[in-house]
Amino acid sequence: MRKLIIIGSGPAGYTAGIYAARAKLEPLILAGEIHGGQLMNTTVVENWPGSKTGIMGPELMREMREQAQKFGAEIIDKNVVKVDFSKRPFTIDDYQAEAVIITTGASSLMLGVPGEKELLGRGVATCAVCDAPFYKEKIAVVAGGGDAACEDSLALIKFAKQVYLVVRRDSLRASKIMAERVMKHPRIKIFWNTQVKQILGGQKVEAVEFTNGEKLTTDGVFLAIGHQPATGIFKSQIDLDFKGYIITGLNKDYPTMTGVAGVFAAGDVVDHRYKQAITAAGMGCMAALDAEKWLENIK
Ligand SMILES: Cc1cc2nc3c(=O)[nH]c(=O)nc-3n(C[C@H](O)[C@H](O)[C@H](O)COP(=O)(O)OP(=O)(O)OC[C@H]3O[C@@H](n4cnc5c(N)ncnc54)[C@H](O)[C@@H]3O)c2cc1C
Repeated sequence: MRKLIIIGSGPAGYTAGIYAARAKLEPLILAGEIHGGQLMNTTVVENWPGSKTGIMGPELMREMREQAQKFGAEIIDKNVVKVDFSKRPFTIDDYQAEAVIITTGASSLMLGVPGEKELLGRGVATCAVCDAPFYKEKIAVVAGGGDAACEDSLALIKFAKQVYLVVRRDSLRASKIMAERVMKHPRIKIFWNTQVKQILGGQKVEAVEFTNGEKLTTDGVFLAIGHQPATGIFKSQIDLDFKGYIITGLNKDYPTMTGVAGVFAAGDVVDHRYKQAITAAGMGCMAALDAEKWLENIK
């Protein structure tokens, strides 16, 4: 029986753990079998405040984990498979808790083509806001046809000399204004009715091959075909939006609380807009402070 259980171990989960541990809530973090979250799959993170030379993703996550442990958070690297939020205390696998913070994150949808997994973090990327500055005078391919793909193309072209947008259909699903900006840009070329067959490269991305056999030299491939929040186990327990993200913000006293009093959520699992380490960490902090206040008020 715990006061607080945190599910997940990305920037949101570890930050919640740091705040909750320092507030003497003795949190248990169920970190997942593959702990540390999305930043474990990247190299240098340049936009994390406080590290002007940049910090390697896995190193940043190790620091966060050890910081949470230093203040007394207990961490178990296991995947939660079943929760019952219908009554308090809540049940999370074999554990019980007065309050829960969900920080299970989201993952980018992948094309599922050869070379993609192997070159992830070495030219295959899922976050243009994060990586665009690395593409100064380089060539980038963006795969996708919605707002995210257009935003990524426009973010990249600020640095890259050429962006190729690969669209599966014959039109963009993006808002009209975004689509127009992309289509009018002289250095963004759109390949309509085109699909990536494979991503080629050794140590890093060198080219893409399309299903029609055409090959294109490139320094990077950005996947902008959507995200999948990790909310499968919460489906019948809390309200999710139509894309599967957790809904919070219904209670103005506890902005990070879900529709179930005492269950909070933070990070990419609630956020289909910003999806940054710093925003996830900020929300993790908010969720821990909300949980602390809520636990005090129900005493
Ligand atoms: C390759 C790459 C590079 C990036 N680079 C940057 C960057 O430079 N700067 C930046 O700001 N952002 C970057 N991002 C985005 C950033 O990583 C995310 O916004 C951030 O990690 C989200 O944090 P989170 O805590 O919400 O979730 P996540 O980091 O997704 O962590 C979720 C955690 O929950 C665990 N989990 C899931 N389900 C369960 C379960 N059932 N039980 C227990 N645990 C579970 C997972 O194993 C994972 O450890 C990058 C993302 C990627 C993929």
